[in-house]
Amino acid sequence: MVAKKPTKKAPVAKKKPAAKSAKAKPVPRPRPRPVAHAGIPASLVPLKARIRSIHGYPKPGIIFRDITTLLQDAFGFRKLVDDLVQPHAGSRIDAVAGIEARGFIIGGAVAHQLSVGFIPVRKNGKLPWETIGVDYELEYGRDRIEIHKDAITKGQSVLLVDDLIATGGTAIAAIQLLRQAGANIVGCSFVIDLPDLGGRKRIEKMGVNVQTLVEFEGE
Ligand code: AMP
Repeated sequence: MVAKKPTKKAPVAKKKPAAKSAKAKPVPRPRPRPVAHAGIPASLVPLKARIRSIHGYPKPGIIFRDITTLLQDAFGFRKLVDDLVQPHAGSRIDAVAGIEARGFIIGGAVAHQLSVGFIPVRKNGKLPWETIGVDYELEYGRDRIEIHKDAITKGQSVLLVDDLIATGGTAIAAIQLLRQAGANIVGCSFVIDLPDLGGRKRIEKMGVNVQTLVEFEGE
């Protein structure tokens, strides 16, 4: 009879005594950065006060209405999207179209909130697939906007979104283009209106409802 070799037992890792841990502290959520407006709680600062005005940009005589200050502010961005979406609650919208480039940011958020798709309206030559386009007049020269040929299904109800309406030239070209593709334009939403430049009236003459949140007098 062969004696069995005693098998070596695998060493058992000794359990470390549980560290005397203090109660796990909740990780603090970063607070939305308040907008600097002395004495006014950030949540009450109106949208208009969150927009930066840059005199002489991109050229002398122009006041550029810069919405980056509004977008980077959590309260402001949330409120902006809520205010743009609220009037459309319950109405039929199949897609949101946004005009390059700031219209992508706002339109994308609005589309998400409405649970519909997003159609980018882009400047000439930027889209990778087959396109249709419309040329339009600028103050100096011409420009062109395009969408993909298959972006619209005939009869789709589309809400058009951009950051600002000035003369209305860009939005009018976008409406023509979307209509040409078979869209039914249910409205146009902008954060800012420059009423002195008459864009809103020109769009309304096309039978399209215009919604704006903030007005700045002058150009
Ligand atoms: P318009 O076609 O004249 O209505 O111009 C509207 C387009 O130009 C929008 O896409 C705006 O982003 C841009 N835009 C025109 N004027 C301004 C301005 N004063 N500040 C910021 N963006 C402007």
